[in-house]
Amino acid sequence: MDYKIAILPGDGIGPEVISEAVKILKVIEKKYDHSFELLDGIIGGAAIDKYANPIPKETLSVIDKSDAILFGAVGGPKWDDPNAELRPEDGILFLRKSLNLFANLRPIKIFKSLIDSSPIKSDLLNEVDIIVVRELTGGLYFGSPKKRWVTAKGRKAVDTLIYSESEIKRILKVAFQLASSRNQKLASIDKANVLETGRLWRQIATEMSKDYPNVNLEHILVDNASMQIIQNPYKFDVIVSENTFGDILTDEASVLSGSMGMIPSASLSSLNNNSNSKKIKPSLYEPIHGTAPDIAGKGIANPIGMILSVALMLNYSFGLKVEADAIYKSINSSLSLGYRTKDIVSSGYEAISTSKMGDIISDAIE
Ligand code: NAD
Repeated sequence: MDYKIAILPGDGIGPEVISEAVKILKVIEKKYDHSFELLDGIIGGAAIDKYANPIPKETLSVIDKSDAILFGAVGGPKWDDPNAELRPEDGILFLRKSLNLFANLRPIKIFKSLIDSSPIKSDLLNEVDIIVVRELTGGLYFGSPKKRWVTAKGRKAVDTLIYSESEIKRILKVAFQLASSRNQKLASIDKANVLETGRLWRQIATEMSKDYPNVNLEHILVDNASMQIIQNPYKFDVIVSENTFGDILTDEASVLSGSMGMIPSASLSSLNNNSNSKKIKPSLYEPIHGTAPDIAGKGIANPIGMILSVALMLNYSFGLKVEADAIYKSINSSLSLGYRTKDIVSSGYEAISTSKMGDIISDAIE
């Protein structure tokens, strides 16, 4: 089949890791006899520099033609002036909202050969296989009013944490469905002791749990959850949370895997609308990390989170499960043979470059 994929590298290490994702796509295309048409688009800081717009019409037209989007990351010190009118992040926030990508799935899986790369004790990591379902188009990131202003008594700023019943229900539905298809365990994260949005979230989760009697629902306050993810990570299966909490908890959970550079994500508008028949709006796939300005340009970034995002795309957007599995297996075998980028290197191993890691993984695809 013929698939059109928008390639949006963004800034910093975004272009470095997405080049490795493209290598993988070329191998899958050849070995499994598919046709991937790659459509290049510019976004974020790079697009501000070229078009004075973080998401120019040229890029929107590329997205319009695509069946799925591969995205690197946007942002960096060059565009960080707090008074700047244009922000690179506005590019990705616009895409999430306009494509209705409210469900962000972030699988936290541990590759056995990397257990020593994590600062967490190995006996806590053996059974870890978590999927975080993060609400992606609501909450503090989008709520209004959202502004800074000057008063006689000094400067002020406001962000708004707002959620509607329908927004909460649709993300919880995705989480309950996923939990039903896995180990029937769902941890719903909120701050119901302090926040009204948290109390509404908890109330709706409790009501909906009646429709999923097989799923064991647990409510956990976000502060407690942040501790338990490190202390008892193996106890979690599916975790669901609002936008900001999900963002923070997944960066924390990435430590379990050895590095932030290991975790992929899928941003979807529904859990079940992806199949071989093409969808109207594309889903978006990106690693959870940012542009890593501290290592950008050095060729040492870990491309595995980006490559695993390709596997998620093949699986969720195109229904190519065998191909997605082949990518997972090639990463597993490359790590088992001792190949490591700098962020996951431990004693006895030598670090290889981003590009070399991409070569090793693509060569290992069967
Ligand atoms: P970051 O994720 O870019 O980096 C955090 C730390 O993790 C750094 O030490 C970095 O070197 C390391 N790291 C991240 N990815 C790595 C990889 N693939 N391989 C090896 N090490 C890796 O977070 P930050 O430093 O807080 O943010 C930097 C910029 O990225 C900011 O401008 C921020 O707004 C942006 N950002 C963008 C996105 C996105 O586009 N979706 C997400 C998060 C942050």
